[in-house]
Amino acid sequence: GLPFAGLSALVTGGASGIGLATATLLAERGARVACLDLTAEVPEPLLGLRADVSDDASVRASVATAAEAFGGLDIVVNNAGIGAAGTVEDNPDEEWHRVLDVNLLGVVRVTRAALPHLRRSSAPAIVNTCSVAATTGLPDRALYSATKGALLALTRATAADLLADGVRVNCVNPGTVDTPWVGRLLSAADDPAAERAALEARQPTGRLVAAVEVAEAIAHLAGPWSSAVTGTALPVDGGMHGL
Ligand code: NAD
Repeated sequence: GLPFAGLSALVTGGASGIGLATATLLAERGARVACLDLTAEVPEPLLGLRADVSDDASVRASVATAAEAFGGLDIVVNNAGIGAAGTVEDNPDEEWHRVLDVNLLGVVRVTRAALPHLRRSSAPAIVNTCSVAATTGLPDRALYSATKGALLALTRATAADLLADGVRVNCVNPGTVDTPWVGRLLSAADDPAAERAALEARQPTGRLVAAVEVAEAIAHLAGPWSSAVTGTALPVDGGMHGL
């Protein structure tokens, strides 16, 4: 049978890019999948849930809706995130709070709301979409990198806290992934073609990562075959972190 048959998943930021690729892949492999996003517009058979991870009430309502629709929740993919350019001198406090509220506290809120359901699962797993920026210094990305570095630490600490409950917690650290996010970045650049070439050259493989390549890594960490894997970060970055 299909590897995710009988399991249900919630993917935040599941209406675009890495999240949509992950939700689609999990559904193709037998899972029932809900996408929590600012928009509820997702293709069938995905269940679209409109919520903002920076709003606790909307998170709790959406998690409850998904758990009720599926009769439980086995897998949570904390993938919703936003970008931010700039050095420590470039962003006011308000901007730091806004980005942290989504990239870090958003994960806290969704995890907190989902845990009562995950604890009742026979194969519970959380996978967070972190970034190569958590482990590698990238220029002009101080705020973004700090949110992802904090998310990496949160992943490990939460894995330790949930060992006794059997809830595994891991993350993926993507390099530059070809998603609408990067599309927006490129269209805002003075010379989009040159900017794209620079992003490609930054990765040892000489190309951008495909969203489905990150989805495959998330599915690997989310599945019951990874039952001995927790508190780890899997780079999906064309070798960027170590070469
Ligand atoms: P994307 O912009 O294509 O998709 C992100 C989705 O998250 C969107 O559908 C958006 O509506 C949703 N979202 C944003 N803020 C939200 C909020 N407050 N509440 C609910 N949903 C929200 O981006 P992507 O490239 O697929 O990025 C997904 C994740 O991958 C992010 O966490 C990002 O930091 C991470 N990441 C991306 C790259 C890359 O190069 N694209 C690299 C490393 C890590």
